[in-house]
Amino acid sequence: MARFFERNIEFLKGVGPQRAELLQKELGIFSFADLIQHYPYRYEDRTRFYKVNEVHGDMSLVQITGQFRTFQLLGAGHKQRLVGTFYDETGTIELVWFKGIKFVQSKLTLGVNYLVFGKPSKFGANINIAHPDVEVLTPRNQKGSYLQPVYHTSEKLKRRFIESKTISQMMKNLLIEAVNHIGESLSPALVQQFKLIDKKTALIGIHFPKDDQALQRARFRLKFEELFYIQLRLLKLKITRQNDFPGLIFSNSLLLSDYYTSHIPFELTGAQKRVIKEIYADFRSGKQMNRLVQGDVGSGKTMVAFLCMLIAIGNGAQCAMMAPTEILADQHFQGLKEDAAKLDISIEKLTGSTKKSARKIMDEKLLNGEVDILVGTHALLEDHVQFKNLGLVVIDEQHRFGVAQRARLWKKGATMHPHILVMTATPIPRTLAMTLYGDLDISAIDELPVGRKPIKTYHFRDSHRLKMFGFIDAEILKGRQVYIVYPLIEESSTLDYKDLMDGYESVTRRFPKYPISIVHGKMKAEDKDWEMQRFVKGETKIMVATTVIEVGVNVPNASIMVIENAERFGLSQLHQLRGRVGRGSDQSHCILMSGDKLSKEARLRLKTMVESTDGFKIAEVDLQIRGPGDMMGTQQSGIMDLLISDLGTDNEILKIARDAATDILKADPELSTEENRAIKNQINSLSQNVVNWSKIS
Ligand code: ADP
Ligand code: MG
Repeated sequence: MARFFERNIEFLKGVGPQRAELLQKELGIFSFADLIQHYPYRYEDRTRFYKVNEVHGDMSLVQITGQFRTFQLLGAGHKQRLVGTFYDETGTIELVWFKGIKFVQSKLTLGVNYLVFGKPSKFGANINIAHPDVEVLTPRNQKGSYLQPVYHTSEKLKRRFIESKTISQMMKNLLIEAVNHIGESLSPALVQQFKLIDKKTALIGIHFPKDDQALQRARFRLKFEELFYIQLRLLKLKITRQNDFPGLIFSNSLLLSDYYTSHIPFELTGAQKRVIKEIYADFRSGKQMNRLVQGDVGSGKTMVAFLCMLIAIGNGAQCAMMAPTEILADQHFQGLKEDAAKLDISIEKLTGSTKKSARKIMDEKLLNGEVDILVGTHALLEDHVQFKNLGLVVIDEQHRFGVAQRARLWKKGATMHPHILVMTATPIPRTLAMTLYGDLDISAIDELPVGRKPIKTYHFRDSHRLKMFGFIDAEILKGRQVYIVYPLIEESSTLDYKDLMDGYESVTRRFPKYPISIVHGKMKAEDKDWEMQRFVKGETKIMVATTVIEVGVNVPNASIMVIENAERFGLSQLHQLRGRVGRGSDQSHCILMSGDKLSKEARLRLKTMVESTDGFKIAEVDLQIRGPGDMMGTQQSGIMDLLISDLGTDNEILKIARDAATDILKADPELSTEENRAIKNQINSLSQNVVNWSKIS
C-alpha cells in the first residue's frame, strides 16, 4: 500500500512532467499521497436550480439553465467585453466576460442548452453574471444534487489552466486507481465505537460527496483520524517521559501548613486550592511533574507558586523561579521576601544586572544549598548556575520562554529532573492547549479572588480625547494611578517612538502638577527599574509606557489603563494590558483609544474587549480571528500542520479523539494487541519527523 501512494504525481493519468513540476512548486504536491490529501476547502452547492426571474443581485452563487439568444462585443481596447444574452422560459439575464473573450466565444453556440453557474450582481437596472461557469447541459449535470468540490490553486496554476476543476479531474483519475490501495488506518473498535465510515469511503466522500450527509460523515472520519493521531503522539510522549523520568517525592507538608495557618494574608480561592492539590498529588507520585497552570491575569498564580515552593523546601529541596523580565523578577523577589523572612527561608535574586562579584558568592551559596529560592530572569539558565538539590522550577509567563529553555532548566537537577511548573497568563483555548501542550498536564485557575470588580472597558475615538483626560483627572483626584500605553510594534521603529514621546509631552502639558513616569524598551534596565519603582511606590501618578509593562506587573492602586492606538494591538495583548489594573477592590477602567477608520477585524477586537473580561472567551475569539498558527508564533507551527481539522471550530471532535487515544493507551500502552495493529502500522509507516500521523505515506 505504501508503495502506491509514494508514486510521483508525474505518473498520474492527466498530469505528466510539466504539470507535476507546477503542482510541486505551487502546492507542494509531490506524490499520490499528497494529492489525495489535498482536500477541498469548500463545496459549491449544485443541488438547486433557479429560474432566471428568481435571480437577484444579493444572491451568492446560483445555477440556471437555458440558451443564448445573442452575443455582442461591446466597448473597445481594454474595456472590451463580451455580453451574452441568456434566457429561459421566465426571462433573460446578461452573462459578461472581460477576459479570454475569444476563447469563450469559440466554445459557445446559439441554440444549445447550457448550465450556467456564477455570482449574480446588480448592474444599474439589470442583473448580470460576470465570468460564469458554462457547461453544456447533460443528463448528469441536469440532475443537479451534487456538491462540487473547490480546491486551492494559485494564480500561476490558473494561468497554466490548472483550475479547481482540473484538480478535481486529476482526483478522479487518482481515486479510480487508488481504491484498491486504500487500507483502513484506524482499529475496528474505533470505527465501530464512533460509527465511522471506512477510510476508502471517506476519501471518496471528501472529494466527490454525493450529498451533504455523505460529506459530513467523510469530514468527521478524516478529522477524527487526524486529531486522534496527534493526541496519540502527544500522550505517548508524556507516558514515555513519565516512565523514563522518576520524580523527587515531596510528601511532607509541614512548612506549608505552618505558613497556611499563621501567615497567609487572605483566604485562597477554590480554584487556587484545587490546583495546589493537583500539584501536591504530582509531588507524591514518584514521577517528574510537567504541569502548566493557566490562570487569567489577577487570578493569583504567584501565591499558588509560592505555596508549592514551600512544599518543596519543606522536603529539603531548592526552588528556582524564572520570570521573563527584570521588572517582573524584581517584583516577585520583593513580594516573596517578606513571607520568606517570616518562615526563615533564604531567597536570592539573579538577573542580568547582578554584579559579577555578587554572582560568585551566590553560585557558591546555591551549590552549598544555602539558598532556598532563587528568583531571576534568563540569567538562571547560564551554566555557572548550579544547585545542590534543585527540586522545583517555576516558570512564570510561559509564552516568553521556548521549549529548549525549559529543557535547560531540567538539566540543573543534580540527581533527578526537577519538577516543572509553567504558569501562563495567556489563556489558551482548550483545543489549542491540548494540541500544543498535550504532553503537559494542565490545571486552570478559573476563578478570581472575591471582591474584584470586573474592569469597565470603553472604546473612544481620538475625537473624544478630552473625555479621556477628564476620566484620568477624576481618578487621580481620588488618589489612584494611571497607565497610558503606546504600541511599539518594532523596537526599532522611530515612528512609534515619536508617537510615544509626543504622547508623553501632551500628557505632561495636560497634567503639569502630577509627577509622571516614562518607561520604554530603549532605556537601560536600571533606569527602567527606577522609574517603575517610583510608580510602584505611588510617587508618580501616571505611567506612560510601551508594552514593556505588559506582563505581570502588579500595582494595585492603578485604576485606569489607557491604550493608545488600540486597534494596532492583538486581542491577547489588549487583555494582558488591561489586566494590569483591577487588582485592588475598587472599580477600575480600561479606555481603548483608536482612530476613526477601523478594519472589520480591529472593530471585532475592540468590541470583544468592551464586552468581555473573560480571558478564555477572549482567547477563543482571538483563535477565530487569527488562526492557531499565528496565535502561538511560528516555532510551534509544525504541530499545526493540519490537513483538514480546524482547531478554531473542531473542539468537540478533538475532545472525543483525545479521550479515545487516552483509553487506548491505558489499555494497551505499547499498542501490541491484534486489535490495535492498524494503529501501530500507521505509526510505524511514518518517519519520526512527521508530525501528523494521520497522513498517508
Ligand atoms: P497573576 O495570576 O496575574 O500572576 P498575582 O499572583 O499577581 O496574579 O495576584 C494578583 C493579586 O491578587 C495580588 O495582589 C495577590 O496578592 C492577590 N491575591 C492572590 N490570591 C488572592 C486571594 N485568594 N484572595 C485575595 N487576593 C489574592
Ligand atoms: Mg503573575
